[in-house]
Amino acid sequence: MYKKKLAILGSTGSIGTQTLRVAEEHGDMFEVRVLTANNNVELLIEQARKFNPDAVVIANEDKYEQLRDALADTDVKVYAGSSALCDVVTMPSVDIVVSALVGFAGLLPTIEAIKANKKIALANKETLVVAGELITQLAIDNHVPILPVDSEHSAIFQCLVGEGDNAVDKILLTASGGPFRKMSKDELKGVVAAQALKHPTWSMGSKITIDSATLMNKGFEMIEAKWLFGVEPDKIEVVVHPQSIIHSAVQFADGAVKAQMGVPDMRMPIQYALTYPDRKPLSGERMDLFRLSVLTFEKPDTDRFPCLALAYEAAHRKGNMACIMNAANEVANLAFRRDEISYPILCDVIAETMQKVQYVALPSLDVYLQTDKEARRYAASLIH
Ligand code: NDP
Ligand code: MG
Repeated sequence: MYKKKLAILGSTGSIGTQTLRVAEEHGDMFEVRVLTANNNVELLIEQARKFNPDAVVIANEDKYEQLRDALADTDVKVYAGSSALCDVVTMPSVDIVVSALVGFAGLLPTIEAIKANKKIALANKETLVVAGELITQLAIDNHVPILPVDSEHSAIFQCLVGEGDNAVDKILLTASGGPFRKMSKDELKGVVAAQALKHPTWSMGSKITIDSATLMNKGFEMIEAKWLFGVEPDKIEVVVHPQSIIHSAVQFADGAVKAQMGVPDMRMPIQYALTYPDRKPLSGERMDLFRLSVLTFEKPDTDRFPCLALAYEAAHRKGNMACIMNAANEVANLAFRRDEISYPILCDVIAETMQKVQYVALPSLDVYLQTDKEARRYAASLIH
């Protein structure tokens, strides 16, 4: 059996490690050819020894020697720096690039991978938030599929399998509501990162966990869905569903609604992205409706969670607005994680940056890169 050859960008993260668990469970189906990390050199060494890839990259160049020395007795090629990420994705031995970096750093390697005609398994939603139009066009031009890893988008994708050209009436994008769901506006003034990092249903990296608490993650996912499925923002409705059992749903022209359900386990959407259109066995818990007994649904509250409204605004304004929003969010999210700013200030920093940084209606890649720098600088100036 032909083994699909994987490059896993961000292999030391939450998605990266779960992708490796899938690859390990299906050693007959996958070979790991490239692994990359930012700082976590110890785990990268351990992964390289276990999976024996062709190449590893550590983005932080200060860690290069440690990595090189630790793998000196192996055949693994060792590279450092963010430009090396853009090189390894083009290696002829790679079939699928799993983009599981966090933040804007995922953009350029994903572009290079698409240009090199590699299939993309996309976890890094920021890539589509920042430059969705450019990325989707590039994927069409290069006949490259972008397979969603994000659980909601995998759910929507699974609902659309077999639907051919049938138009989508509406996407129901589910959200757990995060750890702050029941808090009043007053209580939200005092929340700190440690509280946000206790996500009720999913265990994820720290940046996305904060984004989930602020609902910026759901805003990002709305934009991600717009680009992946060609559906306008007005037809994407966010539904708060605290049990995270319905991973999202699609309503069609005849009123039929298809939903994809399952226990919250990211290995399932990861594996589906890697095996599509096939379904393969996967170990783990199974959904038990009798144990669940109740599924509940609420409307999101954009008064307490303004980041969701900002994302709809960015999607409507188009151009580089979502890129501005993403950059401001990366700065504010990090400052919140470091306990430098409160939750209301986080929201204000993003809103103000969106008002002040120069809007460009038809951005090129250079404009996105420039916008990202400028928006980060502006957002940081509001904090420090
Ligand atoms: P983590 O923080 O757990 O992992 C991020 C990975 O990217 C790590 O390997 C990290 O290396 C590496 N990395 C971080 N910054 C850089 C950089 N500047 N340059 C190069 N490498 C970098 O994140 P997650 O796995 O949680 O999330 C990854 C992406 O997937 C995000 O875009 C997120 O929104 C998305 N996603 C995540 C889900 C989840 O369940 N976790 C669900 C759906 C989407 P190091 O370990 O060395 O820091
Ligand atoms: Mg998600």
